[in-house]
This record gives sequence, structure tokens and C-alpha cells, in this order.
Amino acid sequence: MAVFQKVGGLHSKNNFSFALVVGNLFASPGTVTDEDARDIEKLINGEIRIPLPTYFVLGTQELPTPVIKKLDESDGELCENLIFLGKRAIFKTSQGIRIVALGGSRISSPTADEQKDRYLPVYSESDAKVLRGANSADILITSQWPDGIRNGSKIELDTDDNLEAQTCVAELCTALKPRYHFSTSLVFYEREPFFHDRRADQSETFHITRFISLGSYTSPNKAKWIYAFSLDPTASLPVSLPAGVASSPFSTHDRKGSSQPDQNSLRFSTGDHYARPSDYRPRKRKRPEPLTQEVCFFCLSNSDLATHLITSIGNDTYLTTAKGPLSTRDTFPSLGFPGHILIIPFSHSPTLSLISDPESRANTIKEMHRYRDSMNTMLASKSPQVLGTVTWEVSRLAGFHVHWQWMPAPLSFIQKGLVEAAFKVEAENLKYSRFTSPKPTLKLPDPSEEDSSDFFRVMIWNPQNGSDVEMRLYLDQSFKFDVQFGRRVMAKLLGLDGRADWHDCGQSHEDEVADAEEFKRAFKEFDFGLEE
Ligand SMILES: [Zn+2]
Repeated sequence: MAVFQKVGGLHSKNNFSFALVVGNLFASPGTVTDEDARDIEKLINGEIRIPLPTYFVLGTQELPTPVIKKLDESDGELCENLIFLGKRAIFKTSQGIRIVALGGSRISSPTADEQKDRYLPVYSESDAKVLRGANSADILITSQWPDGIRNGSKIELDTDDNLEAQTCVAELCTALKPRYHFSTSLVFYEREPFFHDRRADQSETFHITRFISLGSYTSPNKAKWIYAFSLDPTASLPVSLPAGVASSPFSTHDRKGSSQPDQNSLRFSTGDHYARPSDYRPRKRKRPEPLTQEVCFFCLSNSDLATHLITSIGNDTYLTTAKGPLSTRDTFPSLGFPGHILIIPFSHSPTLSLISDPESRANTIKEMHRYRDSMNTMLASKSPQVLGTVTWEVSRLAGFHVHWQWMPAPLSFIQKGLVEAAFKVEAENLKYSRFTSPKPTLKLPDPSEEDSSDFFRVMIWNPQNGSDVEMRLYLDQSFKFDVQFGRRVMAKLLGLDGRADWHDCGQSHEDEVADAEEFKRAFKEFDFGLEE
């Protein structure tokens, strides 16, 4: 592993904060020589010293079996200072540098097993979409090139290398606006730095990306394989364009991202995959600190997110089938799937009114209603005049990641006022305060929420007369509110008492996949997330 010696030599002169390996760290399993195998063994046994914290991603080749075994046992730490970021990763280094990575090559319709396997060097378009939920990044690493990256570039690239550039990678870069985007190729390629379209966030400042594709350390043509840079995640963004910075090659791919204005910034320097923040102080070795959001079940940035449950991804919000759904496939036989769906904002915020960026808040609320309306429309077309819907939200300052739970309910129950009554009666039984009387559902950010009082709300849609009303229960100190209240009420109403607790409703992975797929099929023609 001569590469670590080389890096060690450079490190002793430059005192880098960390190193990133952006391509394949190991030879492909088919070509492993005896010497490679011995090196791998030494690495795993800690007999090769890694001079500084070094992070590696999944490249385009499979990892050797002993490596996978060790990573599984050691939670991603192959040996001291050598840490595997994974195939689809978001993390922050101890210096506060946010890295997003997408390894492998894109395949169009992965099987559930392929999707689950975190060491298989393939990803799907939805993996790329999921990472857009990270909102921002200092460094983006992708095995494949973004499609269109050479548009408008004057820099020659003398290779016929099939780079298999991907549109979804370009979209990811546009959404995250990283300071550096690294990939790999046969030859070294550094594109002119470019700035991102500012219409999305109407900001006064420029987000500038440098795309750098590194050659291989073992490449016969001696392509440049190493690049050092310094990055200060705390400096402010430029308000004017530095010389030589061109417009984004992806303008045609530009989608309205959900990205919140990023306050961080970059101090450019030229030079030779290392980062050294200007405030660098030598520290003890530290594992990357997971972002708090990463342990959130609803944050797309959680690398353990149950992506097989995701049924649609919009610009600011997404849909998943509920884990341990209240309803089953038999509850609403005309549907063929359980129909218990969550509408979840990308923003990790305890309430909708606390999403800090006003534009992002408005877009999120608008899109949640759009999803709810689309699903209502789907229901009306699939089971005309049989089902209405009930949607509920718990909005508390002390909450975690606000979301809506949506599910069908028999139209006859809604017409007879049984849904309303069920919520009111249960609130009374539990000695909660009273629900407000039903009002038309407000589909815009609600100025009255600015005071941020805690509340539970339920929205009831009746397809027969088109009425859509909401009732609120304001939460105060006088009673202890059960966050499962909505589900409990619906369980009683639908005669599903035994399913009131989602923990009792676990499904096999296969059934979860099948239900999500069935929902997607039904929702396809109503899914605006697929159009854009
Ligand atoms: Zn979250």
C-alpha cells in the first residue's frame, strides 16, 4: 500500500486534516494478486499505518470479501484512521466539513436486494434523489460524472473513456451546490469553476463548485491522482464573482431545489484530495460525528433510511408508506394496498412554522397539500364514492421531524360525522382540551401558527361534496398528550384496535416492498414528483 506512504510523506510536510479516497481503494476482486491479498490482510490487522484520518467511498468495483466482513464488524472502520463512508453517505468531519457521497454505477431498476446491499457498487436514481435531501454539502463525491459537466468548458479532455455521465448526478450537484465535486476518470480533469443559478434562493451570494476528476494512482498514463486543497466552512460566500468562474453547465437540469441558503463558505486556494481548514489545530483522531439529523427516521440524509418505503420524492417533501401501517391490504379491499402514507418535509423541523427559510416553508406546506390533494384524487378515481381521507399532524415545539399521516376512511363514516365524533370523543375520554369546530382546510402557511402554539390537527376530506375541513386541538400543560393519538382514534374507528401500536404491526421486508410498489403503481399517474 505504497499510496499511504506517499500520502504520509505529504502529510508530514503539510499537516492535512484528512484525506479522501474518491475512487476504488482496492483492486477488483477478479484481479486481486497475492500481494494485494496480503496487503488487505495487513490493513485489516492494523499492520499498515494510516498517517491521517482517511475516508473512502464505494467506487465502481466490488469490495474484497474480507474488507466487507471487517467493515460489518467494525461499524465502518477498516483499521485505525481508515473509515468507510458507504455507498450513499452524508457525514460531517470533526472539522465541520459536510461530505455527501454516492458510489457505484447507476442501474435503472434495482431489485430490493440490490437496493439494500450497501456494498454493491450500484445505485438507483432514487438513491441520488434521496441525497438531495441533504440540502447542502461542502464536498460531493460521486463515482460517475454529472451529465453535461463539460458544457461550456474550454478545457480539453483527451480520452474516449466512456464516462457514463448521469443526469441524476448533475441534479444532485445542482441541489447541493458543493464547493468541491470529486469524481474519477482515466485522466485528470478539472473543470473551470462554475456558479449555481441563484433564482432558486434569490440570494445575493454565489455558490461556486469546482469539479475535479482524478486519475488513478496506478494509472499507466501517470494521470494526476492527488489533489490538495484548503477549505474553510465558516468563511462567507462571495458576493461578486471571482475571475474565471463561469455559469453552471447544468442550467438546463436546474430544478427548484429545496436547499436552504447555505451560510457557510469557502476560501479558495490553488494547489494539489486534502482539506485543511484555516483554523486547523492538530487533534486526536476522531470518528466522524454523525449529524443529529442522521438518527432521524424521517431525514433523507439518514443513510439507514428505509428507502424501499419511499413512494415519491418531490422538491421539498416526500412520501413513504407507513412502517407498521395501521390499515392492512384487507382494510380497503378496493385499493389493494394498506394506504397508510406519510407526507414528510425534507426539512428537519419540529413544526412547519419553524422551518426557518420563509420560501422553503411556503414551498414545503404547498407541496404537502399538493401531495395530499393528489392522493385524494387518486382515491377518488380508484374507488369512486367509497372512500374519503383523514390526515393528521402533531405540531409541537418539542417535536422531532414534523409530518402528516394520511389514510383512507369509509365515505359513509365521514358523511355521518363519525370521524369528527371519534376524535372529539377520544379527546374527551382522555381529558384533553376541546377540538376547534371544523373549518375549511387552510392550504397556505398559517399566520396564526407564527405564535407557535402546540397543536394536533386533523383534516377530513369528503369526495362526495368536495368538503375539506380541519379541526385543531391546542395542546397545553393541563394534559399529557399522546403522540399516537391520531392513530389510536383511527384504529378504534376502523375496528383495528389490535393495530393501534405500530410496533405490533411489523411486516416482512418483502411485504413492505410489495405494498410500496403497489401504491406507486396506483399513484403513478397522479405523482407530480415523476414529472419534473
Ligand atoms: Zn429529521
